[in-house]
Amino acid sequence: LRRARSFAVGRDFPALEQQVNEKPLVYLDTAATALKPRAVIDAVTQVYARDCANVHRGLHQLSQRASAAYEGARAALGSFLGARSPEEVVFVRGATEALNLVAASWAFPRLGPGDRILVTALEHHANLVPWQVVARRTGAFLDVAPIEPSGDVSLEAFASRLTARTRVVAVSHASNVLGTVLPIRDMARLAHAQGAVLVVDGAQAAPHVRIDVKELDCDFYAVSGHKLYGPSGIGVLWGRAALLADMEPYQVGGDMVAEVAFDGASYRPPPHRFEAGTPNIEGAIGLGAAVRYLRGLDAAAREAHERDLLEYAVSTLEQIPGLEIAGSPSTRIPLLAFAIEDVHPHDLATFLDGEGIAVRAGHHCAQPLLEQLGHTALTRVSFGIYNTHRDIDALAEALRGARDFFSVF
Ligand code: PMP
Repeated sequence: LRRARSFAVGRDFPALEQQVNEKPLVYLDTAATALKPRAVIDAVTQVYARDCANVHRGLHQLSQRASAAYEGARAALGSFLGARSPEEVVFVRGATEALNLVAASWAFPRLGPGDRILVTALEHHANLVPWQVVARRTGAFLDVAPIEPSGDVSLEAFASRLTARTRVVAVSHASNVLGTVLPIRDMARLAHAQGAVLVVDGAQAAPHVRIDVKELDCDFYAVSGHKLYGPSGIGVLWGRAALLADMEPYQVGGDMVAEVAFDGASYRPPPHRFEAGTPNIEGAIGLGAAVRYLRGLDAAAREAHERDLLEYAVSTLEQIPGLEIAGSPSTRIPLLAFAIEDVHPHDLATFLDGEGIAVRAGHHCAQPLLEQLGHTALTRVSFGIYNTHRDIDALAEALRGARDFFSVF
């Protein structure tokens, strides 16, 4: 409890200063999107209010300021991810676009019949459907590494699915339903031993786990800005420089070209080659502000706080009769999906909203995983740096109220 009190950043998040249904907002939907600290809001406002210009093209002051801030954000993201250079950081629309870019520009031209793609059973649709499309268009085979009942992915089962024909391994760093943190470094070693590239969906891990792509030894890493306390419509694809340099862009147009004639064009080197058209300037700058804000916090205290929230949530929710938490992975980011006997998650989420508590209900864009867990929908609570024990107490009280309310019917 002491730890939770000593890490108090709630005041940095203006959205928390509101009432919902006449109750103080309890925001437990950070895995869907995180609230934004004032530092991010101010950085975005600054772009619109002062440095409002297009990047890379203008010779005037405003454009130079916007360009410097945009490239500064790239450097901040590179350092946040442990990139060897900012040139390995491609700004995209989100994790979804990052994964589609790898599928379209790296995998699609290189795979053919007999080749294999390996994913795990807990993937978000964003890291499954692009690979289904690559498999369908190239004749490659899409294989799925199973999960254990705990929600962990066993390395033995994973390794047994790898073959010398596996070209792409695409896995989540952390599951958005079970919270499982996957052993990326071991997976990279196993994938590389078979000559495959390792694509990591870091949408859920990046806000919670320290990332160093050199240590992880992956080949591509996808990040979603809005889950990382940054704006929406922005994300990052980190890629190994040598791989990016060898890839054709999947969108073409202005800003990504070196020279253009009527009969052809040459492209700029990465990362600009993959950023056709005017980028999401304020989004990138806002995301840069988000990772600088996070860097300004005490990392160890932040990790301890998130661990403490998770432990407190598990022990609190376990005491609610009829509530079953999905999975019990060995390492988990601070989120829990659960079912309550005889209460549909959508009814529950609506009830909780009445109490000012924001949660997510549904299939969480992981339908094959939910089917395997034997559910069509689950309720998910997910925590950010601003949450407190009080939020979890409010949730527990409301869940008890929900059980009483729905048991009437
Ligand atoms: N992967 C995972 C694990 C996610 O949770 C999400 C977001 N729900 C995504 C990918 C997609 O992220 P975005 O919608 O920001 O592109």
